Amino acid sequence: MPIEIPQTQKAVIFETNGGPLNYTDIPVPQIKSNEILVNIKYSGVCHSDLHAWKGDWQIPYKLPLVGGHEGAGVVVGVGENVQGWAIGDLAGVKLINSTCLNCEHCQQSNETSCATKTLNGINMDGTFQQYCATDAIQAAKLPADIDLKSVGPILCAGITVYKGLKSSDAKPGQWVAISGAAGGLGSLAIQYAKALGLRVVGIDGGAEKGEFVKSLGAEAYVDFTTSKDIAKDIIAVTNGGAHAALNVASSEQAIQKSVEYVRQSGTVILIALPPNAKLTVDVLSTVVKQITIRGSYVGTKWDTTEAIDFFHRGLIKCPIKVVGMAEVERVFKEMEEGKILGRYVLDTSK
Ligand code: NAD
Ligand code: ZN
Repeated sequence: MPIEIPQTQKAVIFETNGGPLNYTDIPVPQIKSNEILVNIKYSGVCHSDLHAWKGDWQIPYKLPLVGGHEGAGVVVGVGENVQGWAIGDLAGVKLINSTCLNCEHCQQSNETSCATKTLNGINMDGTFQQYCATDAIQAAKLPADIDLKSVGPILCAGITVYKGLKSSDAKPGQWVAISGAAGGLGSLAIQYAKALGLRVVGIDGGAEKGEFVKSLGAEAYVDFTTSKDIAKDIIAVTNGGAHAALNVASSEQAIQKSVEYVRQSGTVILIALPPNAKLTVDVLSTVVKQITIRGSYVGTKWDTTEAIDFFHRGLIKCPIKVVGMAEVERVFKEMEEGKILGRYVLDTSK
């Protein structure tokens, strides 16, 4: 039986960066020959959506824009040139919408470095809508028995921290310090790190977040709001410094500290994107400590497949709170104030 696709749908859309977040009716997008149409059931709300709405980064945004890039839903339309997708499949819509498939990076399966990639919720309408058109090649295959309600955060937060941990080259039994451990990315990073056999010290603010990160598997917690010297505390807990530092707190100051508490020959992974942030390092100690500082940006198709597989096997639980789409503004406010434990997920039917 053909699926009925309506002409219009509910979405959250803004006309200007920082402008009103309108929960309103907009047309359902028409798919191009290379795209699938996904009936988004749930979408996570990432801190990158907040940065994009505010216009924190000096990059081109599509305006008006539907934000969101952690969508989970059902395929209801398949473009004429698409292979490998059928109506009724479950699909994930992530940050990367499409890549060129031809540049040196795409040819080496490092498509996150493709210069002409398009991004959902940045320069393409994203997942804060009931129907999202997305390139069929970058859309993520979801197993038929996946929990659609909680898989959303895997599609950005999960992939990103999994890739970041792999890029750190930390080995089983070694320490990773996760800065921003109680947030959307951090709460998943703790669990991926544990699944990879790493030891975790979480950094975040307040006692409640400390309890939360320990409940997810962190062995130790450093509270940045009360610690007199974060670097000293991390070095003490890890008996010499963390082998890897995963920066998922949108704070320039926190990123700066990570260079201090990483161990000799350790790796600092930069993920969080505070606006206009700079990292300054002392050359002598960087050379003598032989530390690596590496940027890490979402993940490839293969990183996506692996990250979803960890979730599907029950190794990762997304700590979510589900709310209606009209709540985006409140979610952004709580995020700005650092009040969220884990991730908010929007139910697009409400
Ligand atoms: P979030 O708001 O859910 O979590 C951030 C956490 O950091 C919060 O728990 C907050 O309390 C904590 N925090 C704030 N200041 C801190 C400090 N000084 N020290 C320690 N913790 C502190 O955000 P999120 O959705 O997890 O995203 C985090 C960042 O990662 C954002 O900047 C986002 O844009 C970025 N991001 C990057 C990529 C990438 O591919 N590189 C992908 C996704 C998100
Ligand atoms: Zn994101």
